[in-house]
Amino acid sequence: MRLRAGQLGTAGFRSAFDFGQRETARWFPGHMAKGLKQMRARLRSTDCIIEIHDARIPFSGRNPLFQESLDIRPRLLVLNKMDLADTSKKLSVLKQLEREGVKNVLFTDCLKQRDDSVKKIVPLVTKLIESAARFHREENRSYCLMVIGVPNVGKSSLINALRRTNLKKGKASRVGGEPGITKAILTKIQVCERPIIHLLDTPGVLPPNIENIETGMKLALCGTILDHLVGEDVIADYLLFSLNRLQQFGYVERYDLEAPCDDIQHVLKHIAVKLGKTQRVKAITGVGDITMKVPNYTAAAYDFIRAFRKGELGKVMLDL
Ligand code: GDP
Repeated sequence: MRLRAGQLGTAGFRSAFDFGQRETARWFPGHMAKGLKQMRARLRSTDCIIEIHDARIPFSGRNPLFQESLDIRPRLLVLNKMDLADTSKKLSVLKQLEREGVKNVLFTDCLKQRDDSVKKIVPLVTKLIESAARFHREENRSYCLMVIGVPNVGKSSLINALRRTNLKKGKASRVGGEPGITKAILTKIQVCERPIIHLLDTPGVLPPNIENIETGMKLALCGTILDHLVGEDVIADYLLFSLNRLQQFGYVERYDLEAPCDDIQHVLKHIAVKLGKTQRVKAITGVGDITMKVPNYTAAAYDFIRAFRKGELGKVMLDL
């Protein structure tokens, strides 16, 4: 992505990202629509909805499709992957969410063996259900929850963490590294004994709400869209732009660069050389064919993105 005149910020970085002419319509698998239909059908028997989203993008891409139904049901927003998020901005996030009418929010790390926030979910959900207008007290309490969210935000991991925490049971839900791997099949999984709480596993794959191309790019960066649909090269460039904007310069040391840099080609070349990711290309010249070694930019972009997603390039809050 080349810089245009007027796009350089004060520190020599771009102040805006050139998204070009991109089309986001094909970024989501078709089975999500089917999932939505099934979810709607199960809403009636759901006592509380747990909306889960990536803590690095607490506002971008959350799907308002369920808004009408959510309004009449207790709802908890779980902002997961907090281990990857810059939580110094937590208060501002909570304030903004409250302005939007979202009051019950927990930040979680579902990969942590014992996460204090995950422990709070059952008591909080029970309280929310029992204080809701539609609640009728009965002797044998048994509640049903539904976990919803865009692909790859940690729905299966949350379900496993809930079971681990409340039932001391192992994995019940397959965790997929690729967005959209959780298929649209509904399964009821017990997550708590007292009170009895079940939740519907795998229903909640919502298509992200892409208001604009920048939202789409943030979602891609966080791994909620299959990389090849967006393009590793542009995701890597948007990553570099974001890290510079947030003054997260960990990539400089990691990849032996001399200084922070805004030129993705330069950065990728460094990464490729450092990691030994080169490829041979054949050049046909006037005096015969020659083979040259050139940096493998795609492999370098892939490494850059993976390092970010593992949290190795620093914690970020992409929405503030
Ligand atoms: P789902 O598609 O929403 O069900 O998401 P998964 O539970 O399959 O998780 C997607 C990816 O995110 C997997 O690679 C998980 O290991 C990872 N993941 C889930 N929760 C967390 C978390 O709290 N922190 C981090 N760093 N990774 C997580």
